Amino acid sequence: MNEDDGHSTLHLLCVAQTPQRRRRLEACAEKLADSAGEGPDWHSSSAPNARRALAILGAGWVDAALVDLDQQPALDFLQQARNSGIVTPLLVVTADAAAGHWRPLLEAGADEFLPADELTPLLLERSLRLCSRNQALESRLEYLAQHDMLTGLPNARLFERQLDLSLHTAERHGRCMALMCVHLDEFQARARSLGQEAAELLLKQSARRLRALLRRSDLVARSHNEEFLLLLECSADLSDLALTASRILETLAGRDATDDGCRASLGIAVFPHSSSEPRQLLDHARVALNQVRDAGGNDFRLYDEALEVVSHRRVLMESALPGAIQRNELSVRFQPRFDLRTRRITGAEVLLRWDSPDFGAVSPEQFIPAAEATGAINRIGGWVLEQTIRAGRQWLDAGHRLRLAVNVSGGQFRGGEFANELARLLEAHGLPAELLELELTEGVFVANVAEHRDLFTHLTALGVGLAVDDFGTGYSALAYLRHFPVHALKIDRTFIAPLPASEDDGAIVRAIVAMGHALDLRVVAEGVDSIEQIRFLEGIGCDEIQGYLVGMPMTAEELNTRLEQHPGASEDAWPA
Ligand code: C2E
Ligand code: CA
Ligand code: CA
Repeated sequence: MNEDDGHSTLHLLCVAQTPQRRRRLEACAEKLADSAGEGPDWHSSSAPNARRALAILGAGWVDAALVDLDQQPALDFLQQARNSGIVTPLLVVTADAAAGHWRPLLEAGADEFLPADELTPLLLERSLRLCSRNQALESRLEYLAQHDMLTGLPNARLFERQLDLSLHTAERHGRCMALMCVHLDEFQARARSLGQEAAELLLKQSARRLRALLRRSDLVARSHNEEFLLLLECSADLSDLALTASRILETLAGRDATDDGCRASLGIAVFPHSSSEPRQLLDHARVALNQVRDAGGNDFRLYDEALEVVSHRRVLMESALPGAIQRNELSVRFQPRFDLRTRRITGAEVLLRWDSPDFGAVSPEQFIPAAEATGAINRIGGWVLEQTIRAGRQWLDAGHRLRLAVNVSGGQFRGGEFANELARLLEAHGLPAELLELELTEGVFVANVAEHRDLFTHLTALGVGLAVDDFGTGYSALAYLRHFPVHALKIDRTFIAPLPASEDDGAIVRAIVAMGHALDLRVVAEGVDSIEQIRFLEGIGCDEIQGYLVGMPMTAEELNTRLEQHPGASEDAWPA
């Protein structure tokens, strides 16, 4: 269709079996052109046979065809046209107006039939108008199926189609494309607090901002809920990528506090670096997006293969963890703690091990966060407590009063049953509560000041000890030490490792020991792995040590052997 002066010119192709029938069609079409007042201008041309007609229709510039072929050739023609993807309206002239005649034609793909003896310019014009209205309706329906009504942006379906085409073009021209997956971090909270309407406004506004920021040739789509997809060209060395990504985040967030924007997360996959497969490219952008969101959001990240390995492994791990207890894959080790003055073993830290047939020996540094994320930490933590209390009782029976320290995650307090469950276990196994110590990080104390004051009071009432784990790494505010009945500080091993060479770390460790003693707490140094560190710690009056040099994490039997060999004191733990 051509449009000049706002008046459109349409092309009608006349296809007929004989020159005589063709002339009749042409005559009708010409009158159509004459009579066209308000409507479009029709120009006609003709094709002498079906083969030629199909070639012309395939070229795509014809707006409708008027076909007068015998019944069977007409059916063949229609089928071939529709099978080759031609969607142009096809009006077929029939010699016979009986239903047995025209029904098969419509079934084969004709849009309309016109009985030969009734063919007039008026009928032709009406039929054409009807067909084009149908076509307009269809394209409206198609538009609706491919766009997001709220924002007017293409939806995921259309985006994926456009993505295919764009990647083909990029490949031909040797260009790089960045596929970005954008998630509005604050959308759900906004919807909950301000209602659906405000949330929809936010979506519309974000869509407008994205569209305004990006070039016309860039693709912007809303895939679902609060997620947008972008496809933009980027330089081969990706040097412009970070700038573009931060601009997008800034734009969505708004320029200042009065500007009601929204914080967002953004994952990027680059064609062809990350993948040249459209579907995979999308998956990769989503993997990167999830990494950003896991890390707290409001940032962007580029996909790299290592990420996928990590997140894939994490998903598999998360699903395997809950069954690990039943499958007997978990066990505990005991790492002895020594009194620095007497050099006796005072107790041990209980450290969890997971030996998985699928992942091998997984470090607790990896699976504990996974257990926390899935909630499996509750059952696993309960299991560790039970193992610990059982082992503590056996040592007590053998004449060793060992204080066992168990690591506890904040997540284990959820549900409010922690203290009761602990009391039940101590009671059931008959272990004196003072032989149990709970190691909690500073973060757990600080996060729970208000919420769990009662819990900690309950725990101390039971008589279990509380130790601050990884002390020095978390918070500079120490007020929480006043709020909680803490018994011990465990200086994080990152302060111990540089000793005694590092003067700064030396000063920090010295200060922690002095402060601990001022608050009447026992101070434990962890990660001790050299005799020089021991000398330094002895010199500043640290109370206890734990580390590979004096004792690796070991099984209960191994610790037993050690206790039996040196009943009471462990003189050869390190030279005096
Ligand atoms: P953490 O509480 O700081 O535990 C001490 C970690 O330091 C242990 O690692 C231990 O093997 C290691 N370590 C001991 N001595 C040395 C040394 O001389 N040098 C060095 N470089 N490292 C030493 P592990 O067993 O891999 O545990 C890692 C973390 O996993 C623990 O850190 C703790 O946060 C967590 N974790 C372990 N078991 C449990 C558990 O049962 N429950 C919970 N919630 N967390 C646990
Ligand atoms: Ca610990
Ligand atoms: Ca620690």
